[in-house]
Amino acid sequence: MHSKTIAQLISGLRNKEFSSVELTQHFLDRIAAHDDRYNSFITLTGDIALTQAQVADQRLAAGDAPALCGVPIAHKDIFCTKGVRTSCASKMLDNFIAPYDATIVENYQQAGAVMLGKTNMDEFAMGSSNETSYYGPVKNPWNTNCVPGGSSGGSAAAVAALLAPGATASDTGGSIRQPAALCGLTGIKPTYGRVSRYGMIAFASSLDQAGVLTRSAEDAAIMLNTMASFDAKDSTCVDQPLEDYTQGLAASLNGLTIGIPDEYFGEGLNPKTAEAVQAAIKTYQSLGATIKPISLPHTHLAVPAYYVIAPAECSANLSRFDGVRYGHRCEDPKDLADLYKRSRGEGFGNEVKRRILVGAYALSAGYYDAYYNKAQQVRRLIKQDFVEAFADVDVILGPTAPNPAFEFGAKGGDPVAMYLEDIYTIATNLAGLPGLSIPCGLIDGKPIGLQLIGNYFAEGKLLNVAHQFQQATDFHQQTAPATA
Ligand code: GLN
Repeated sequence: MHSKTIAQLISGLRNKEFSSVELTQHFLDRIAAHDDRYNSFITLTGDIALTQAQVADQRLAAGDAPALCGVPIAHKDIFCTKGVRTSCASKMLDNFIAPYDATIVENYQQAGAVMLGKTNMDEFAMGSSNETSYYGPVKNPWNTNCVPGGSSGGSAAAVAALLAPGATASDTGGSIRQPAALCGLTGIKPTYGRVSRYGMIAFASSLDQAGVLTRSAEDAAIMLNTMASFDAKDSTCVDQPLEDYTQGLAASLNGLTIGIPDEYFGEGLNPKTAEAVQAAIKTYQSLGATIKPISLPHTHLAVPAYYVIAPAECSANLSRFDGVRYGHRCEDPKDLADLYKRSRGEGFGNEVKRRILVGAYALSAGYYDAYYNKAQQVRRLIKQDFVEAFADVDVILGPTAPNPAFEFGAKGGDPVAMYLEDIYTIATNLAGLPGLSIPCGLIDGKPIGLQLIGNYFAEGKLLNVAHQFQQATDFHQQTAPATA
């Protein structure tokens, strides 16, 4: 059962090949048997899952089954889940039981999905390797000496190890696409505003967007159908008509124009990654697409602009964790200043502290114009590059990450080397565009990701372009060696 796609599970449940309780128990047993190898879950919600599965079975029997009725999924631990610990992988929230559900969690509940548990991640979603979690690193199922990518490393490892058929995730600068690439999965970050951020713990509010990690573009379309909604509780959520993303999957790619940005193939790109991406370009040509070289001239400014804007927003967002209202509180504070200092000093890890310091500095009186304002101006130029490119092309294609999964500690001493792993994904968030990663090959047994970037609200087109590649190739069907 665990090797079936979500599409197959939906039909298996409806055809009574297995019940949701059987299916859910099967995944819970797999997690119990295998997850100490990967550490992909922070909290398991077996009792909730089995209760939801029983209800799902009743609805299936009554012929009243919503879209994902009875399908088990996992939620990244950045999404609030009522009555269940929501830690964001931080000591700060180790004791936090969310009093409400995130909108996307509610959407999945209403669609009948079953929650297996909450997945591990980088602390407050800051990282590209899942090494910053308070609950320890997540291991890549393809090679447990290597990182799964981050920050949604737990969701990616759980799906890649076949411990969950699909999982929710979030992407501020690449945190869905980069782990998708490193774990051989399909991952989509929708247009900013397509999915509600209500109840998703904020890192950098103008960049954060929820999305999904699955084993195929078809499954991503099915999961995104439920995740996407208009939500008045998130003021940046866009009231745009909802689509059925599965509808356009089969469309032919004849007449499609794919832009290949020069800047995504320069220095720093692993030659083997480049080779796999070039082979994927040939596949697209054979599927009828036209390839057009393009330029995104401000690409080199994306990482520097992001590492001013994201820390600036995080320093503001994380000021709410003060030891007063909820979260970690130090023992026996002397006075209020001591309470703040020690609660925050003890509750946050080093990467989070580094970002808060950088962000508070960039926003401080004398430096606001020099750093924060400048970065916002650069952001505008980056967005403009894409607007001009999309006048001539339908989608943009390139690598997702420069390298396949690296070993634990490989970039630990050098934050900038780590930041550069997101060089191809960050610009998409700065521009608010949708981006997707699909597997396109292996280097030494480790997966490589192909990135597709779409115009605003072109999620359906992106999924179609990804699905057509998956109809012509079998990279997405390969699974990590130890998962059988
Ligand atoms: N790796 C990037 C960072 O550390 C992006 C993280 C994310 O998308 N949440 O900020």
